[in-house]
Amino acid sequence: MIDILSLYREELESLILELGLERYRASQLFSFIHKHRVERFDDISVIKKEIRASLKELFYIPSIVCKKKTRSNDMTTKYLFQLADLANIETVLIPMKDNRYTICVSTQVGCRMGCKFCATGKMGFKRNLTVSEILLQVYYILKEQKLKNVNVVYMGMGEPLDNYDNVVKSIKILIDEDGCNISKRRITLSTCGIVDKIEKLKKDLPYINMALSLHCAIDEKRSYLMPINKKHKLEDVMKSLSTFPMPRRKRITFEYVMIKGINDTKEDRKALLRLLSTYKSKLNIIPLNKHDLMDADLEPTEKRNIEEFAEFLRSKGMFVTIRDSKGSSIDAACGMLATKNS
Ligand code: SAH
Ligand code: SF4
Repeated sequence: MIDILSLYREELESLILELGLERYRASQLFSFIHKHRVERFDDISVIKKEIRASLKELFYIPSIVCKKKTRSNDMTTKYLFQLADLANIETVLIPMKDNRYTICVSTQVGCRMGCKFCATGKMGFKRNLTVSEILLQVYYILKEQKLKNVNVVYMGMGEPLDNYDNVVKSIKILIDEDGCNISKRRITLSTCGIVDKIEKLKKDLPYINMALSLHCAIDEKRSYLMPINKKHKLEDVMKSLSTFPMPRRKRITFEYVMIKGINDTKEDRKALLRLLSTYKSKLNIIPLNKHDLMDADLEPTEKRNIEEFAEFLRSKGMFVTIRDSKGSSIDAACGMLATKNS
């Protein structure tokens, strides 16, 4: 049986032709599956019963089970989804300005990158998500909340570029005009910095928004916080990102989790200035979110000091924002996603 949700329109088309059906059936089916998000072939009443029967022999439409939903006082909602093998993942729906929403999707169960401050990293790596497991997080929420226009950020559990093929395919399906038709400008991929995969992405999927988990501009300290930095040196990551084709009027986002006494010193400010001065960039400072799995030596920088750090960089001409940790009361903010039974 073939998982119909994970097929490109062209792949579906060749299977439909093999079944002896007309070519237009493929576009029709693709649109029912990805745009109207039907969950059963029998819900597609415009397709004759006999044809539905032959489709059911070859394909199945996968689904996802929501085991728990938690809403914080800032209206951020965290979904705990159970997958077919009983692994659990979390997805976060974040309300934005102007009645818009952002869906933060997971790409792996756990993560192998082991960043020191991250709850998902502390879980270790369990497995990659399939294309449909990534798509279903978005589809479930769109359907349940009756949403139309959303941003999708690949910033949940896992390192998207460590599950490259499935992540790229899921994005290409999300932006398909006959499917969800989400603009590339509304998709953001956040990575810890894997150079060969960034290079590949430039060719496979240019003009999506890119975010780098920078967290330190000093090589040695970055390696302490993020082991991946030993393999992919910051200089190489920055060089590769500098030529990433971005959507019009958008900047590369550099995420910076502020950790007391570690990356919030005067030396760090200077290093950041030096590193980012030649980039059309946005520095997004994230106050460190504490979680149960956090090493005892990591503490968040005080709010006052975060503001001073940001103000200094702004005074030197940098574009700096401070992220409010939406969803922290329900462990749904950045770096707090970690599931049991997975
Ligand atoms: N693996 C990707 C995307 C998922 S992590 C990446 O690392 O970019 C999403 C964001 O949350 C990253 O910027 C990550 O560094 C940040 N983050 C991780 N742990 C955090 C914590 N405890 N507090 C605040 N942000 C954290
Ligand atoms: Fe993985 Fe990102 Fe967490 Fe690092 S910050 S462990 S790359 S999910």
